[in-house]
Amino acid sequence: MPREHHPDGYRTHARRPIGKRNPEARTDDYDEIWKPDWSPEALQDQGERCVDCGVPTCMSGCPIGNRIPEWNDLVHRSDWKDALAQLHATNNFPEFTGYTCPAPCEDACVLAVNDDAVAIKSIERAIVDKGWEEGWIQPEPPAERTDHRVAIVGSGPAGLAAAQQLNRAGHRVTVYERDDAVGGLMTYGIPDFKFARHRVERRVTQLREEGIQFVMDTEVGTDLTPDQLRAGHDAVCLAIGAQQPRELPVPGTDLDGVMPAMEYLPQENRRRRGQSVPGGVTAKNKNVVVLGGGDTGADCVATAHRQGAEQVVQIGINQQGPSDRPADNPWPQAAQVYEKTYAQQEGGTEEFAVHTQALEDLDGDGHVDELRAERVEWTYENGRRADKTVLNPDLRIPADLVLVAIGFTGPQGNPLASLGVERAEDGTFATDDRLMTDVDGVFAAGDARMGASLVVWAIGEGRDAARQIDRYLTGTSDLPASLQTPNPPLG
Ligand SMILES: Cc1cc2nc3c(=O)[nH]c(=O)nc-3n(C[C@H](O)[C@H](O)[C@H](O)COP(=O)(O)OP(=O)(O)OC[C@H]3O[C@@H](n4cnc5c(N)ncnc54)[C@H](O)[C@@H]3O)c2cc1C
Ligand code: SF4
Repeated sequence: MPREHHPDGYRTHARRPIGKRNPEARTDDYDEIWKPDWSPEALQDQGERCVDCGVPTCMSGCPIGNRIPEWNDLVHRSDWKDALAQLHATNNFPEFTGYTCPAPCEDACVLAVNDDAVAIKSIERAIVDKGWEEGWIQPEPPAERTDHRVAIVGSGPAGLAAAQQLNRAGHRVTVYERDDAVGGLMTYGIPDFKFARHRVERRVTQLREEGIQFVMDTEVGTDLTPDQLRAGHDAVCLAIGAQQPRELPVPGTDLDGVMPAMEYLPQENRRRRGQSVPGGVTAKNKNVVVLGGGDTGADCVATAHRQGAEQVVQIGINQQGPSDRPADNPWPQAAQVYEKTYAQQEGGTEEFAVHTQALEDLDGDGHVDELRAERVEWTYENGRRADKTVLNPDLRIPADLVLVAIGFTGPQGNPLASLGVERAEDGTFATDDRLMTDVDGVFAAGDARMGASLVVWAIGEGRDAARQIDRYLTGTSDLPASLQTPNPPLG
């Protein structure tokens, strides 16, 4: 039954996002941390909190320009099916974002100036959850096929979004993936308890039924030469991510028990898929140190807790962020404030302003035993660490397992180097504003082009690359642009 809209709904209803399961209970299993159930009526009330402010800053806060006010209103009116159509108009995989996005849209919501933002991410999740439950999400193969063949290299969110868009434009799309499963970091990286495997798998089923071909266990540049790839396709999109880990520049990183986060996390993804992991490492009964404070560090902390770690200490090099927005980070920018991560809510210790000096093997058995560091206080210039005062020069933390999650330096290798594809100084693939590399017909998108970023940006980049590839192949394109990615609307 449609309901009347109250423009002051935000006064009637408090913000109530869907929320997470009890932190103490959830570390006993690998089920998703998110509450599985939500009530349609409660979410309709949340939709009513949208003030339809006229200048939807939330949409500019969302990298793909999701039509947030539209679907807030449709949800409020209980028109879930139209809300789903509006959501899919800008986002191929709204559950990828509805579960994992840090929701910069909410920081930019007009209500967030002096009240609690609309629970946008929860509404997005609810719409797409309902879409799957009701069977509204079905394959949409194109009515007609062109003769153009496109290769997508990499099956993360950027590659999958590009593939779906190009396939819907009628082109013949093949996705090449070096791993044994589709999904990029959504499958091997992000833990199953943050994003369940079946959510990627049912999208892959949809994509296959739409006519997209997947070639797995095939590393472009090794298993398939660049010349073979080019010979079989009219255009190529490099969507290989930016998974090269940043190295920790201190002595002791070659000791046993020290490993990059992206060696550790996929091992657990594989165990969850029922695969054996010969030589794999777990945190059981160990003193674990996680270096790095981002999403990857948090996922390591949470995984170590589920594996039965004795103790988990997460170390950040920077000072702890402020709890309120600083003056140089005003609304509607994404708020640079400290918030306890889901992983820290589950337990462990978090240390800030700790400058690692060495990893030590105290008994000479070749295995790490201790992390040595300075506790410091940093001063910053233009947001970068400039100078430090050492408060404690000899901080020692016991460590049987050190997980290094201090960021990524860019794509792993350059599979199309022999064709002349160049990388920029920062290691990413340089493109022009059509997302084309310096080689005609070779495009790049997602983390491979931007550097390590977010799922929502990867989807937006994949959509934009698809639109540019479509135009490259046919001279024009009806595929839509993403709002914030670098493609201006077609002239
Ligand atoms: C642990 C972790 C947690 C994260 N959590 C979040 C989060 O909560 N929210 C969020 O928004 N973002 C998160 N991110 C970031 C997000 O996962 C990435 O920004 C996003 O996956 C990038 O998508 P992509 O398609 O560009 O690349 P990827 O997802 O990295 O996919 C690239 C794919 O290319 C394949 N590939 C590479 N080289 C080749 C080759 N030569 N031939 C064939 N295939 C190749 C790779 O195997 C991979 O499957 C997280 C990242 C990590 C590492
Ligand atoms: S994709 Fe992210 S930023 Fe965009 S509406 Fe969803 S939660 Fe907000």
